[in-house]
Amino acid sequence: MRPNTTTLEDQVKECAYSLGFDIVRITGPEPFASDEKAALKRIDDGHMNGYSWYTKERVHKMNHPKLLLESARSVISLAVSYLTTDPDVSTSKTGKVARYAWGDDYHNVLKSKLREFCLKLERITGKKVNSRIFVDDGPMNDRAAARRSGVGWFGKNTNILTSTHGSWVFLSQVITDVYLKPDAPLKKTCGNCVSCIDDCPTGAIIAPYVIDNEKCISYLTIELRGIVPRELRPLVGDWIFGCDICQDVCPVNRKALKARYTSFKQRPGFSTPDLVEILNMDQTDFSRKYKNSPIKRTKLVGLKRNACIALGNNGDIDALAPLINVLRTEESLIRIHAAWAIGHIGGKDAVAALECALRLEEDLDAIDEINLAIKEAKANLV
Ligand code: SF4
Repeated sequence: MRPNTTTLEDQVKECAYSLGFDIVRITGPEPFASDEKAALKRIDDGHMNGYSWYTKERVHKMNHPKLLLESARSVISLAVSYLTTDPDVSTSKTGKVARYAWGDDYHNVLKSKLREFCLKLERITGKKVNSRIFVDDGPMNDRAAARRSGVGWFGKNTNILTSTHGSWVFLSQVITDVYLKPDAPLKKTCGNCVSCIDDCPTGAIIAPYVIDNEKCISYLTIELRGIVPRELRPLVGDWIFGCDICQDVCPVNRKALKARYTSFKQRPGFSTPDLVEILNMDQTDFSRKYKNSPIKRTKLVGLKRNACIALGNNGDIDALAPLINVLRTEESLIRIHAAWAIGHIGGKDAVAALECALRLEEDLDAIDEINLAIKEAKANLV
């Protein structure tokens, strides 16, 4: 039971809790100076390559709440858990999807809750309130706000870790012209734990709190629009949308409380989708299945590319026929990854199919890839 509320801050927090938010804290509108400095260094060091929208101008804006709302007097920082059930059992025919994408698109769910919250804020304060809301989609440094307000602390994998719900949280913010007394940051750290660094399969966490974006499976499977580098494909494993490894191994996450929001519960089969079903999808199937799901971000072509890599890594011989079919019918980006997967699975049928495809192929990148795949498949025959 929470104590009876009296202060304005308590009323505001109680209102957010009643709407389903799990953690609500407050910080001031001052710039996030050290976060801005760290973000600029990440850009200079090339660790944000691939995110063309992540510019120095944007970094400046996202770390100055008053540039987002001139009259800002407070930033309300909120977190809501998306930890629901365990994932379904994986097989050699399935891929894996990061937890946050098992249910409805959080942007839509949380924005509608935040709009409701802002209306209630006017009722609580008894005056017209100017506010802006952010759910991981605008120029706002959500993690800096979460850290300074005490929602959580920075984990070495760069996620915000909360004491109660671990890092399985969606962050959101309301910048408002209502003055609210700020909360203090938490005095917590990860101590000596480096589990996330040790267990990241691609070595993307190159130092505590520093991710080399271009190596991270989340980037490779969601943001990258082109060819996944060959050397990274075996390390991607069966992840086809995001990656939860550095969160799964985090000890703080083992004690995390479950989500209250039902919108984030798993849609049937979303944690471990059937990979061949993805290969066989057309645009209508894709749009229907992933309507209001974060997965639509990768687009059909990206999801098929990722499914090819996962099938190659799973090594199930039954996947050869659908992959060979893709080699005949799909666009070049998918053909390239299908060729790799066929070569990776290997065997005489794989070599024969690749040699046949080579005779018909006209795309230069695909020709290179097929030649490499034939080499790999032949090497494994010996
Ligand atoms: Fe590494 Fe996966 Fe974490 Fe990215 S999401 S840093 S690939 S463990």
